[in-house]
Amino acid sequence: MKEKNFFLSLNKEALSERIKLEPAYCHIAKGCYLAEISFSDNLSSLLPYLKPQVKALYYEPENLLIFKWKRGDKFYKVSLKGETLKFGTVSDREEAREVFFELFDYLKELSLKFEIIEPDYKPVKRPQALIIYKYLPKTNCKECGEMTCLALAAKISMGEAEPENCPHLTEESLNELRSLLE
Ligand code: SF4
Repeated sequence: MKEKNFFLSLNKEALSERIKLEPAYCHIAKGCYLAEISFSDNLSSLLPYLKPQVKALYYEPENLLIFKWKRGDKFYKVSLKGETLKFGTVSDREEAREVFFELFDYLKELSLKFEIIEPDYKPVKRPQALIIYKYLPKTNCKECGEMTCLALAAKISMGEAEPENCPHLTEESLNELRSLLE
């Protein structure tokens, strides 16, 4: 079974040489990147077996899986699509390499359960950032830690933040957003 052996057959040291960094949405804060690695095989058929084992933020069966992964006290957003694994944010190449090694071991461990896992084809989606943005105050005050309200909307859309991160939401907007995200 290809799914079971996929990660077992790979060499993480060799793969780590392929890490590419691209500026993340928070690049303005200097040293904020998304790391990307391309495998030689398409990962799509693995996604329905990984999805039941992770905290999925977004899932299109056999196309794209985004999930939250905790390492120490930091959360990383991990995405798998086609032949590509992306994760972030990281502050530099050294962190990307360290994170990749642990993330690879985590995925390898999950793959050991593929034979007993019931594949999951139910999508997971949150509303798009522009829909969420309509409910935010649009003052770009930065108190949520983001440079703009749209940046927070994007984070909420991808499951990286919650409406409560904005201290200026009216109760009505907060309730509407909460019900949108349920
Ligand atoms: S705290 Fe709220 S109003 Fe201020 S930038 Fe963030 S989302 Fe916008």
